[in-house]
Amino acid sequence: METTQPTTAFLPSALGLTLDDWVRWAEANGQPKFRARQIVEWLYQKRVTSFDDMTNLSRDLRDRLKRQFVPGLLPVVRAAGSNDTTRKFLFRLDDGRLIETVRIPANANFDGDRSGRITLCVSSQVGCAYACKFCASGLAGFTRNLEVGEIVGQVMSVEHETGESIRNIVFMGMGEPLANLTRLTKALEILNSDWGMNIGARHMTVSTSGLAPQIEKLAAIPRQIRLAISLHGATDKVRDQIMPVNKKYPIDRLFEALDTWGRHKKQMITFEYILIEGVNDSLEDAAELALRAKKLHAKVNLIPYNTVEGLQWKRPEKDQQEAFLAILSNANITATLRREKGHDIDAACGQLRLQEETAEGIIEKAV
Ligand code: SF4
Repeated sequence: METTQPTTAFLPSALGLTLDDWVRWAEANGQPKFRARQIVEWLYQKRVTSFDDMTNLSRDLRDRLKRQFVPGLLPVVRAAGSNDTTRKFLFRLDDGRLIETVRIPANANFDGDRSGRITLCVSSQVGCAYACKFCASGLAGFTRNLEVGEIVGQVMSVEHETGESIRNIVFMGMGEPLANLTRLTKALEILNSDWGMNIGARHMTVSTSGLAPQIEKLAAIPRQIRLAISLHGATDKVRDQIMPVNKKYPIDRLFEALDTWGRHKKQMITFEYILIEGVNDSLEDAAELALRAKKLHAKVNLIPYNTVEGLQWKRPEKDQQEAFLAILSNANITATLRREKGHDIDAACGQLRLQEETAEGIIEKAV
């Protein structure tokens, strides 16, 4: 169930409206419909950062826009990393909350991609209520959903900061994207539409902990986006230990939803599987996972566990990781094992680390 947003006195972001919303806005403001096209062109093709730059609109109309919206770029509190490495952007929202967006070059990509492309890992909520046991976001708890303009604003802001065009997006930042489904769906429309940012649907991946009914709702939207499941266990016994959401949507219910997804979408589903010593890394676990993946023709990304402060789990030995991978490969499953050490972007939603600035300085906040 989606949570209610706290009301704020802040102006909404202009980046949160679809073309249809702008048509309705134009009509409500006594303007012809074509003004809506002009506005989205300024926002998404010409990428202006001020309403004053929208020079084919009258002064009166620009003033109306200024009174009702903010242009929507998010202020950067800090950017860390270089263009050759993972680069993290810490953005401050209107209410002072902080979110992190991560630019990942192919050589550090979440699925071992070597194509040279850049992928942006986008947040969907401030905090998260789902408390997956490996994820520090769960420790921080849930604060609020991101607005549509805050989701789109992350992409626009990184483009603005780097001068790059972002063509690949994963919703694996802070938060459970499917718990913010209405806003996520609208953001996907803005990111994907030719009047918007025109990012190919196949280049956008939504990662979920397994919210079965929301997977079915997302399956029904016509865009051919990709789906990644933060799986981490192929049986209820294992998954119950790691993912509290499994109590609500046990694994058979999840796979029922994935069957629905498969009937609607042509893309391969990806299973993210963090290998945790003694919890989900046995060869029997690998065999169960192979069966599940085979049935759905899913791809598997194995990610050796990274220590999270305050959590007890350990990463399995290299030999065990390789033996696990071999079971999948021998079953003809497309599987990758991340071999880099100490990688700080984990391929599960909300596995980022965020540092929050306080009056006392910078303290690490779990994300
Ligand atoms: S993995 Fe995703 S759903 Fe689970 S606690 Fe972290 S952010 Fe939330």
